Amino acid sequence: LRKSIIKSNDQLLNQLELQSSLLPELEVRVSLKAKYAQLKVLLDGRVELVIPKNYKRSRVSQFLLENRSWLEKTLARYEQYKIEDPERYSKQPKIIDLQACQQCWSVNYLRATKSRVRESSSSLCHLTVEYTDESLIAKQLKRWLNVKAKAVLVPWLHEASECTHLKFDKVSIRGQKTRWGSCSSEANISLNRSLLFLPEEIVKYVLIHELCHTQHLNHSQSYWLLVNQFDPEYQSHEKQLNSLCSSIPLWVY
Ligand SMILES: [Zn+2]
Repeated sequence: LRKSIIKSNDQLLNQLELQSSLLPELEVRVSLKAKYAQLKVLLDGRVELVIPKNYKRSRVSQFLLENRSWLEKTLARYEQYKIEDPERYSKQPKIIDLQACQQCWSVNYLRATKSRVRESSSSLCHLTVEYTDESLIAKQLKRWLNVKAKAVLVPWLHEASECTHLKFDKVSIRGQKTRWGSCSSEANISLNRSLLFLPEEIVKYVLIHELCHTQHLNHSQSYWLLVNQFDPEYQSHEKQLNSLCSSIPLWVY
């Protein structure tokens, strides 16, 4: 799914009579696949309205009014989550626990004239983020995480490829919100940097999962038979993977 339209509409917000603090931004996305209008509260707290192609603009405000109490409740719950698990929602995390490579980084932040992320030279995992502009901190952290992910995941993928004799062409590290990894028909594999937050065995399952797609670009029975050859516990790994979604800190995306 690609985002085709992104805009906020002040008039709509006025009609909704929602406090701006509750609904700071509303994005309207036209989806070719959608059959109905749907409201979503995204991971980062933004609100998205998905509408089908040809959905009448005049119906939008009506739809929002009808769903106003749902939206208020959902946003209130989101605020509650933020209070219960501030680290996950923080844009300036104090701890970055990279389970996959067993590195737990403590982070501190310094305003400076130049932006950079420094790793301590000692054996302790300590990170200093020097920033010129607070709004760019997440970007700096993401860039740092990308480098880490490349250093860890790429060698692991090569290893898994050798063990399984499943060859791939290129590998890239990404930060997609909805995917742990992907494999194209040209056998190019992409891996999500957030994999570093998962246990090693789960990450290795994801690598096997994508490598097996070089043989079957689907989730057919023969595909899973192949996966089973290299990871007999794939079903349990798949389940754990789904439940671990909610443990990834949100600055990663
Ligand atoms: Zn798959």
